[in-house]
Amino acid sequence: MCDTMTDKNRIYEIAAEAGFEDAAVINTEDLQFVPEFRVLCEENDCGNYGKNYGCPPACGTPQEMQGRVMQYRKAVVFQSKTPVTDVMDPSLTKPIKKRHIQQTRRAMQQMAEDGMKMDGFAIMCGPCNFCAVCAMEENKPCPHEDMRTSCLSAYCINATELAKLCNMEMEWGGTMACFFSLYVFDRK
Ligand code: SF4
Repeated sequence: MCDTMTDKNRIYEIAAEAGFEDAAVINTEDLQFVPEFRVLCEENDCGNYGKNYGCPPACGTPQEMQGRVMQYRKAVVFQSKTPVTDVMDPSLTKPIKKRHIQQTRRAMQQMAEDGMKMDGFAIMCGPCNFCAVCAMEENKPCPHEDMRTSCLSAYCINATELAKLCNMEMEWGGTMACFFSLYVFDRK
């Protein structure tokens, strides 16, 4: 049984069992936050801006999001790589994102079952999808605040720099979909 999340080897095993291509444990102080990325959320290409409690503007300002992460010292980074016929087609990449999020939850559950101290939270590769339809769309309060997650973009985390930091390939284009999620832990 692992009694600490500093047991990196076990974390990598769990990531592989969950179906991830790769995983890394990093220091949160090495993450690069780019508040200007918020403009990309506001452009709303994904259609979730203002429709999901985990997304801007409801999730918080870039500064608040960064502050939330920086309450913790470490993060596990999970990477999935999935061949697709056209990476620019959201109808193909949406189900891949969904699967990546499920894999992240599965890995977190296994870490908890291993006895690791789960004092942190996940950062996903897409909007919170814990409910079939986000309660925000029905003007109702979020019924599962403890399960709510936001994506890397909402945190304004630079995914390209994250991939470099983890020595992971960041292929995006053509026929390969690479997604990342994090679990931040070790509260200061
Ligand atoms: S837990 Fe449900 S209601 Fe809350 S943000 Fe996630 S999808 Fe929306």
